[in-house]
Amino acid sequence: MFNETLRTTDVRRIAIVGSGIAGLTTAIKFKQQGHEVTVFEKSRGPGGRLAAKRVSNGSADIGAQYFTARNPDFLPFLSAFAGDSCFAPWRARLGFQSAEGQWQAFPNEHRYVGTPRMTAISRALSAHVKVVSGTRIERLVRAGENWLPFDDAGQPVGEFDQVIITAPPAQARELLARSNLPELAAQLNDAISRVLPCWAVAVHFDENPWPHHEGMRCTDPALYWVANNSSKPGRNSENKEGAGVWWVLHANAEWTERHIDTAPAKVAEELIAAFRALTGAKAAVTDTVTHRWLYARSEGGNNPGHLWFKGQGIGLAGDWLSGGRVEGAFDSASSLVSACAESATNQ
Ligand code: FAD
Repeated sequence: MFNETLRTTDVRRIAIVGSGIAGLTTAIKFKQQGHEVTVFEKSRGPGGRLAAKRVSNGSADIGAQYFTARNPDFLPFLSAFAGDSCFAPWRARLGFQSAEGQWQAFPNEHRYVGTPRMTAISRALSAHVKVVSGTRIERLVRAGENWLPFDDAGQPVGEFDQVIITAPPAQARELLARSNLPELAAQLNDAISRVLPCWAVAVHFDENPWPHHEGMRCTDPALYWVANNSSKPGRNSENKEGAGVWWVLHANAEWTERHIDTAPAKVAEELIAAFRALTGAKAAVTDTVTHRWLYARSEGGNNPGHLWFKGQGIGLAGDWLSGGRVEGAFDSASSLVSACAESATNQ
């Protein structure tokens, strides 16, 4: 449990690569145990695929759309470390298409979003730990029993007893390979092939183009998921007369792979056309913001939860090790921290 503060006499210096939900959960939980943690993030801010882009009147979630909380520890963890004002249930009408193309309701389940944007959660979590942003860890160099992570300017960024990598598997494999750890890198080959890319487009319509659902999983040659971003709690233009609405359109993996190098403006045009064909939407488009995810969702395969290489003092956590979703990233981080604590106790 997150609140079982296990003060240990064996205080370790732990470097965590990546500040998505897995990296931040790992960092907070290790810190709770009394360890010294530093999180390195290559982007300007924390969050990873809990991502939002600034748009007129607010922001649009271009990565994770919502999250579940099936693990009874997840919401208490978020309440304790992100705060109750950073997330809320999204009471949306969600639909998926049957084989005949009819819209059917999603199974009943509580689904949550960050408020007023997905990144509110990662921003709040990151306040509890030391996060060094804008620092890509390029390689790890062994120094006796310790690790020296080097940034992409070739500078060491500290000395650590352990390193936890929470990057998607392709980036984790690169880092391990450059760190002279080929046998660890090889263990990620299968996971890499299961991570799918996704083109995302946030689209502003002058009026709501589809009033029947707030989110739909599509069976469509181009689209995988479409959602009314403005229907989420605390979002831009919510209930504001004449402000229009922001929708988010996600292409499916096959379409994205075929259009991986297509210009963003063309991608937006084609996905909007697919959305119109799917829904019959007539509302005018007044703005778009496009983003390409090379590593979006992880599907299938076995889910070991985490990887812990005790001999090397290297651990891996992330959604791809535990079901491929926001909650999976939390589960993976939690299981890694427990495994490390257990292996330290058994020493
Ligand atoms: P990430 O969030 O990817 O974090 C990894 C971090 O590592 C990143 O910040 C990256 O910049 C950093 N990094 C990588 N390499 C380095 C390096 N060398 N040095 C420093 N930093 C590095 N999940 C759901 O539950 N529901 C959804 O509706 C949903 N929809 C999605 C839609 C899209 C388009 C996408 C992209 C994802 C979606 N997901 C959804 C998946 C969800 O976003 C992820 O499962 C979750 O956010 C992954 O968290 P993570 O911490 O494992 O990885």
